[in-house]
Amino acid sequence: MVKRNYVVFPIYSLKNIEYDFSYSLDNYFFEKYNLLPYKDSTTTVQINIIKNTHLFNVKIVIETVLKTTCDRCCNHLNIPIFEAFNHIIKQVSNPQHYHENESEPEITYLGFSETDLNFDDTIAEYLHIAIPHSTICNEFGFVCNEEMLHLIENMAPKPSTSHPFANKLNSIH
Ligand SMILES: [Zn+2]
Repeated sequence: MVKRNYVVFPIYSLKNIEYDFSYSLDNYFFEKYNLLPYKDSTTTVQINIIKNTHLFNVKIVIETVLKTTCDRCCNHLNIPIFEAFNHIIKQVSNPQHYHENESEPEITYLGFSETDLNFDDTIAEYLHIAIPHSTICNEFGFVCNEEMLHLIENMAPKPSTSHPFANKLNSIH
């Protein structure tokens, strides 16, 4: 597989000023990170970086659409996702020490020998977090498909006949 990066900056190219970048993510990115509910969505990532020597204040804004189905009625749902988060990157002489002793997920420590700022893993992580645990129409401003709910209800086994005691009674008759 071809190794491909999306949101990467060579550190040496960044001066002590503010930068704004815009990217789009495609299906290769979603497959690479197993983010299949986002496939075929138009996904944009805005990155704002303020560099202050060895400190980078980063703001990442992701806009996309999550494609899923309702847990109750199986309707297809397109859920707009808008995630904005702040991230801090610090260049330090012993990044391993910081990663073992600091637990803030929003801070990344990089060694001075690192050549790139790579945001792909971070963006993928936030897209994973943005996937809701349950998806039911009304939680996202949609209405369940009544016809489908009736169908599902009729398909479900009736409690009175599925109970072992009820079955026994039926077999006596
Ligand atoms: Zn529904």
